[in-house]
Amino acid sequence: MTFTNSQPGTLLVIDGDPDAVESLTHWLKDRYQIRAVGNGEQGRASVQANPPDLVLIGTSLPDVDSQTLFRDLKASAPEKFLPVIILTEKRELPSDAEIEADEVWYKPLHKPEVLLRIGALMRLKHQFDMLVEKNRTLTEVVAKHEAELAAATRTSREASILKDSIVQNVSHELKTPLLQVKSATSMLAEDARAASPTGTSVLADHATAAVARLESVVQNITNLAASTNVKFEPFNLNDAVNVAIRQLGRQWASSAAVERIKPKVENVPLLMGDRGAVAQVLQQLIDNAVKFSPNGGPVEITAENTPNGMRVAVRDYGIGIADDQRERIFQAFYQVDSGSTRRFPGTGVGLSIVKLILDKMGTSVEVESKPGVGSTFSFVLAIAEPVSQEVNARDRTEQVRS
Ligand code: ADP
Repeated sequence: MTFTNSQPGTLLVIDGDPDAVESLTHWLKDRYQIRAVGNGEQGRASVQANPPDLVLIGTSLPDVDSQTLFRDLKASAPEKFLPVIILTEKRELPSDAEIEADEVWYKPLHKPEVLLRIGALMRLKHQFDMLVEKNRTLTEVVAKHEAELAAATRTSREASILKDSIVQNVSHELKTPLLQVKSATSMLAEDARAASPTGTSVLADHATAAVARLESVVQNITNLAASTNVKFEPFNLNDAVNVAIRQLGRQWASSAAVERIKPKVENVPLLMGDRGAVAQVLQQLIDNAVKFSPNGGPVEITAENTPNGMRVAVRDYGIGIADDQRERIFQAFYQVDSGSTRRFPGTGVGLSIVKLILDKMGTSVEVESKPGVGSTFSFVLAIAEPVSQEVNARDRTEQVRS
């Protein structure tokens, strides 16, 4: 919206001199609506009842001096911009005079100058009003968004509490029967083998592998529930990789999968973090890398120096992840392919555990991926100070000797 002189504005003239009012009205009436009152009292009442766009306080006020009236008018609507012009007779003011006014005009007035300055003040006033209006609308929008955000945060907190309690209860409730099934299965397998050394062991092996898979699922849920207490100390990445591979070897039915893992992390300086937790992260990332590369491709584990520390990466040449899924896979229980016909087993909690653990170590997991080409999951860990490197190397030598 732009304001032009053709846009009507309302002017209030407060002056006890009818001639002065008459001549101002004559000059301005074609462009503006003019209201005129003869004293300060009426002026205040008129501003209160229906605020004008501009006020002119004349020289002949019977009941109040122009300064007091100016202050009263300004105070009556402090949040509004109401330009108030004071007319005065004197061209020269005493040097110590401090007049409060938006503008002071000296008599005699000149019509072109009056029109020009009133036009400018009106434009200013309307721009100000527009800004106030915009500000009000924006404040309303912000308040609405804040309310929506607060509601969403509340819902999300409630959902998170509910999820945590489900996870904790489920992991607790599953563990005991699972342990019973596990020992019963292994006893049945023993019995079956004793009764018939051929044939039945295939079924027993199936049952044992299924129990192992179930155990890893429950373990994952338990890990998610447990708030992992991670350490922050120098550790050897190669050791963490070996722990992860050993664990996976136990978990997987086939040793062929282990052979696909290609670690390239020897001669890496000591890193800062929790060896066990890093092993758990690697175990999860390698497990996924193997699972989601059904072509049987290799899974590489590398470490690369960066300005912020060592980037540890697990790379596969499998199915990859679409751009729009890359953030979501870190949500607990989220799986790209979660339908009933899904090709890959799992619970969708592995990556959320990875994220949780790395968060606790002060770092984050990053993923680069291309569908059909493969994925690289990585995280950066600080390199330990040289002193810690020496201490750790000495400790390891002593450990080897003893
Ligand atoms: P799960 O493997 O049990 O389904 P995760 O939390 O480990 O759960 O992974 C979540 C999802 O992220 C997986 O279901 C899969 O869709 C996707 N994903 C994870 N790792 C890979 C990978 N290396 N390649 C392709 N997709 C992956």
